Amino acid sequence: MKVKTNDTVLVLTGKDAGKTAKVLAALPKANKVIVDGINVQKKHKKARSAQEVSSIQNQSGAIDASNVMVVCPACNKATRVGYKTEGDKKFRICKKCGAVLETKREAKEAKKETKKAAKTTKRKTKKESAEKTAADK
Ligand SMILES: [Zn+2]
Repeated sequence: MKVKTNDTVLVLTGKDAGKTAKVLAALPKANKVIVDGINVQKKHKKARSAQEVSSIQNQSGAIDASNVMVVCPACNKATRVGYKTEGDKKFRICKKCGAVLETKREAKEAKKETKKAAKTTKRKTKKESAEKTAADK
């Protein structure tokens, strides 16, 4: 499935066609996605204990994954998804601008990695400068 949790998607069909929203959950087995505020269904929730109150709640229903298109965060367009492999990693890319589509979690991990890299380079420069001063003496 080309849609992942935390993607922003454009809804193509149904009563919410034309809306864009965030994917709350992806259900690959059913080929469906649950999108925030899309296909809202009323759920009649009955109180199961004395503390609970019976109520009617709105909740987003699952829609078929083929009825949404991923919106690219780089060019802000609804796009088809392509794939690119680098080493043993597989990336989703935007067919329109070629940007790598990252989910928020992947973006966080990437940030961590760049931070780590920055730290190691800092350490290296420190060591190098120490060696330099030693060489100057
Ligand atoms: Zn794009």
